[in-house]
Order: sequence, then structure tokens, then C-alpha cells
Amino acid sequence: MMERENHIADCDLWFSTADITDADEPYLASLLTESLELWSDEAEIHPFLQSAQIRFYGKEGDLLCKAGAVPPAGTERDAEQAAELAAQAGMQSVNPVRSEFGSLLAIGIPLKRRSERSVFANIVFIMELSEARSEAELQAYALHYRSCFYRAFEGMFVKDMMYQQRMRSKEAEHRDKLFLAVKRLYNEIEATSVLTEMLHSLEKLYPGSEAHLYLSQDYVDGDDRVRPLLFKNTAHDIVAQAFLEGKLTKETERDGKIRLAVPLAGKQAAYGVLCMCVRSGEWDESELPAFLLLADTAGSAFENAKLYEQSNLLINELRLINEMTKRLNQSLQLTEIFKFATGELLSIFEADYCCVLQLNDSKEFIVKSSNIPTMTSEKFTPDYGFCGIVYRTREPLIISDYWNSRVVTSRLMDNTGSRSLIAAPIIVKNEVVGVILVTHKLPNFFSYDNYKLLQVMSTHIGLAVTNASLHAEMRRLVITDNLTGLHARHYLNEQIQRRQRKDDFGSLVLVDIDFFKQVNDTFGHQIGDRILVQVSNVIHSSIRAGDIAARWGGEELAVYLPGVRAEQALRIAERIRTHVALETDPQVTVSCGVAEWSTENEKISVESLFYCADMALYEAKNKGRNCIIVGGTA
Ligand code: GH3
Ligand code: MG
Ligand code: MG
Repeated sequence: MMERENHIADCDLWFSTADITDADEPYLASLLTESLELWSDEAEIHPFLQSAQIRFYGKEGDLLCKAGAVPPAGTERDAEQAAELAAQAGMQSVNPVRSEFGSLLAIGIPLKRRSERSVFANIVFIMELSEARSEAELQAYALHYRSCFYRAFEGMFVKDMMYQQRMRSKEAEHRDKLFLAVKRLYNEIEATSVLTEMLHSLEKLYPGSEAHLYLSQDYVDGDDRVRPLLFKNTAHDIVAQAFLEGKLTKETERDGKIRLAVPLAGKQAAYGVLCMCVRSGEWDESELPAFLLLADTAGSAFENAKLYEQSNLLINELRLINEMTKRLNQSLQLTEIFKFATGELLSIFEADYCCVLQLNDSKEFIVKSSNIPTMTSEKFTPDYGFCGIVYRTREPLIISDYWNSRVVTSRLMDNTGSRSLIAAPIIVKNEVVGVILVTHKLPNFFSYDNYKLLQVMSTHIGLAVTNASLHAEMRRLVITDNLTGLHARHYLNEQIQRRQRKDDFGSLVLVDIDFFKQVNDTFGHQIGDRILVQVSNVIHSSIRAGDIAARWGGEELAVYLPGVRAEQALRIAERIRTHVALETDPQVTVSCGVAEWSTENEKISVESLFYCADMALYEAKNKGRNCIIVGGTA
């Protein structure tokens, strides 16, 4: 405020001393003409102006402008010469100068500067001698004219000053808007908001303009000012040129509009091109730095927002992976792992369908888990569909639109009407053991990031599968007897206990080879072992899948038959006994003791069941061997 007041006070002083100088000469003619209007408006000189011709001359005797009457025909030449004489003389003198020519009288009156009183122009009145006015009267006119001239002169400065003032405040307003725009841009942490904010700021800064954004990768849905950056006919396309050359490109269109294209870039990469179209009258080259600054700021802000989004995405991904691995590792059951993975993948990718397939021993892919009921347990040859591609290439796969690119026929895609797919192999010990397929009904649904994330997740699922397989193998080793391939004793115990908790009855058969010591002594231990294996095989082939055969100790074997009564167990034992006699070489026989438990017993335990069977076996041995005794109920 203070500054402005000082400024006005300065102007006041300046006005009282301001004067026309040699530097103003180019504007002299127009100033003289402008002043004429004021002069004729203020003074009632019309009658005189109508009869006299008035001319203004510069220092060099050059005619600057004319006013008043038009010279009557035939007198033009005289008038000119008379006026020129008066003008030349007038420029050298500060007093009025007269000159006559024919019937005409010209009186030149010098117009003096108000400071140094030197002459800056000459006003010449030309009239008929007969109508001559006095020099004093003409001087009065001239003085009045001079005052009008100075007012016009001051007016010009005032106008100029007002214009400057207006420009300055417009500039300040522009700067404020720019500052706010830059601040707002940096406040945005979302990439899409940065772009919207930038377009909004441009509209505010350049109200008549039209701004478009061409992006090389992302496409902001819903805003038609944001378009994909295409590279067609780059020689004629300033947008593509700006992107490729990384600098401002400009062109004037046929309708006179100016198009400016500037790359939207950060420190790491260029993301697109900002293009603005303005009417040439509304564009001032001096605004270019501001426009470039805005584009530059938007580029950096966009990059920051992108990096922020990316790091958030990564953090989220890590969290998901961490969470999933933790949960996956909690389970050592393959079916559970596949089921859990299916649920996780569906929710992480917001997918419609998911299938986890496992390669079985006969080299077929079998659907182990899926949210499509009809697909459960479906089998496929390893060269079929997308599963086949993943199996062959051992690489993940992304299909943006199955309908447009039918590389293979897929039952999964056809049955569910899916168009997008991401798939990845499950690799264990460098072998593809399974395939994950995730689909969506919409085309272009999965991003490249999704595809990469699935790859990472499939690695973790692979690790979980490895863990589960190792665990299963270890358990198998622990519960299996090395020599016979039958179960170990502790496993049999566990299983009987388990069944006793849920079943109503069951039977145990103890099988002991007769005179085995003798066999060993006769043929040696190795042959003895072979016979033991042969007997085990007979047992194994005489029972059903749910029955449990185990090596109870030494050459004593046991079979637990869940949900089987003693009389049925006797028949099975009988089968074993007869087959052993037929299928062993050197031939041996076995004796069996059978015992049954049921919920009707007072006390149910594994120990008492074994005790009863053992007692029955003892009895069979006593009875002469190669026979079966059914013991009492345990
Ligand atoms: P029986 O049962 O008819 O009364 O006479 P047996 O000679 O079979 O007597 P017993 O059942 O007590 O014999 C156990 C013998 O079985 C001791 C051992 O020489 C033999 N034996 C135990 N475990 C093995 C084994 O793993 N391999 C071999 N080759 N022999 C074994
Ligand atoms: Mg024996
Ligand atoms: Mg024995």
C-alpha cells in the first residue's frame, strides 16, 4: 500500500515536469492529431477552422498533419508553399512568422516545449489575405492547442501507466494462481489427482485454452481430456514429437490457434505429453516460462505420486505374500494348501474363477481345488489348454482377451465365459507339479503387476507343496516298516486307538510264522527275511484298503480290521493262513490269534485287545500250529 502511494506522489512530480522529447518524435504526428479533437471540442473555433487551413510541421520542416478547411481548387500549391515557408521560418524563431503567397497568408506559430521553451512543432494557419486574423488571436488559438496537446500527451502517459499497472496486477494474479497450482500439485499423492489438478490449473490460468494430456501408459477413465499417446505419423504430430524429442514443440494451426506440446516428465522417465491449444490473441510468449514450470511441476508431482503408489503396492504385495506364506506353512496337507490358495488368489486378484491343478503319477492334470463345482476332480492331458502351455514353457502366462486371441481351446474359459487369464506353474524340485489358473469374465482385467504377483505367489505355493510332500514322505517313512513295507507297530496302535473312539467294534488278527527259528537255522537269515516279506505280501493282498497291516515285532505280524466282527476276521485269517502255505518258498505255515472288541465291553483298550489276540495265538501254537484260534472278546 505504502509503495503504491509513493508511486502516485512520484507521478505527480513527474507530470509537472514531463515534457515531450526528441525520443517521442515517432508519436508526434499521432499526438498532434489526437489533440486536434480535444482542441476543436473545447474551443468554439469551428467557424474559423472551417475557413482556415491548419497544418503542423516538425523540426525538419516535415508535414505532420493537417486540419481545418480544404484549400479551394487552384490554391493548393500556393497554400503549400506559403505554409512551408512559414514553417521553416517558424522553426528557427520562437515568434510567429508570416509569409504571403498569391492571395494567401500563412502564419506559423511555433509550439514550444514547456520546460526548455524550445520549439517542437510548428502550427501554420493559412487563410485568404482578405480574411486575415491578427497574430495575437492566432497565438491564442495556438496556446490553447498547445495546452490541449500537453493534456493529450499526459493522457497518453496516464493510459500507458494504467496499462502497465493492469499488466502488473494481471501478472501478479497469474503468479499467485501459478504458485497455488504448484502447491496443490505437490499436495496430491494420487497420480490421477495430479493430472486432474494440472488440467484444472491450466483452465484457470489460461481461461480460453483447451488442454489435453496424452499418456504413454495409464489411462484415466472418465476424463476425456486424458488420452492415450499414439505414435502415428510422428512427423506431423507435435505431441509425438514433443515426447520423442523431450522438448517443447509448437505450431500455429490454420485457424490461427497456437498449439503447444510439452513432455510430462519426472527425473526417471517421461510419462506423456501435455498439449494446450490457445487462440493466438490470448497467448503471450512471456507466459511460456510459467506454462513450462507448470508442466515440469506436474511431471515431478506425477512421478512422486506414481512412486508412492508403487511403494504402497509393493508393501501391500509383501504383506499379502507374507500373510499367505504364513498361512500356507501352517498346513502340511496338500488338499488344504490348494483350497486355501484358491480362496486367497480369488480375493487378492478380485478374480471370478480359480483352479489349482496337480500333475498326478499317471501324468494327468487333475483339478485339486476350484470355485467351479463342475471342474472339481476333472482330468486333463498335460498338453491340453493353458495348463498345457504353462506345463510346456514352465513360465507364467497372461491372456488379456481369450475371445480375441484363441491360442488354445480352454474348457475353463469356455465354461465360465472368462476372457482374462493369468496362470503360473507350481514348481517343486525343478519339476512342474501343478498349474494355477485365475480368470475373470471381463477382458483386460489383470495387470502386469497381477501377473508378476501370481508368479511370486506360485513360488510360495510351490514351497508349501514341497514342505507338505517332504512331510508326507517323512511320515510315510516313520510309519512304515523297512523290510516288509507294512506299517510300523506305533502306527497300528494309533490307528486302533483312533478307531476305538469312533467305531462300535473291530477285530485284530495276530499272525506268527511257525518254527521260524528253524527256518532261519536251515536257510539262513536272508532267506528268512525273504519269507517274512512273502508272508507280508500275502497279508497285504488278503485285506481291504481300510484295513491296517503292521509288523508287530520280529516275525509276528498283525492286521487290524475296523468294523469287522470276529467271525468275519476268522475268514480273513483263514485266507491268510491258506495262502501263506501256498505262496511261500521255502514253504512255511502260520498260526493266528483273533480277538474282537466292541462297545459292549466294559473296558476298551489296545492293550487288552492285543492281550486277547496273543492268548489266542498261544493257544493255536499249543494246538499244533498252522491253525487259527478266535479268542475271547477283549
Ligand atoms: P513258533 O513260533 O512256531 O513257536 O516257533 P519259532 O521258531 O517261530 O519261535 P518264535 O516265534 O519265538 O521265533 C522267533 C524267531 O524268529 C527268532 C528269530 O530267529 C526269528 N526272527 C525274528 N525276527 C526275524 C527277522 O526279522 N528275520 C529273520 N530272518 N528271522 C527273524
Ligand atoms: Mg514263530
Ligand atoms: Mg514269534
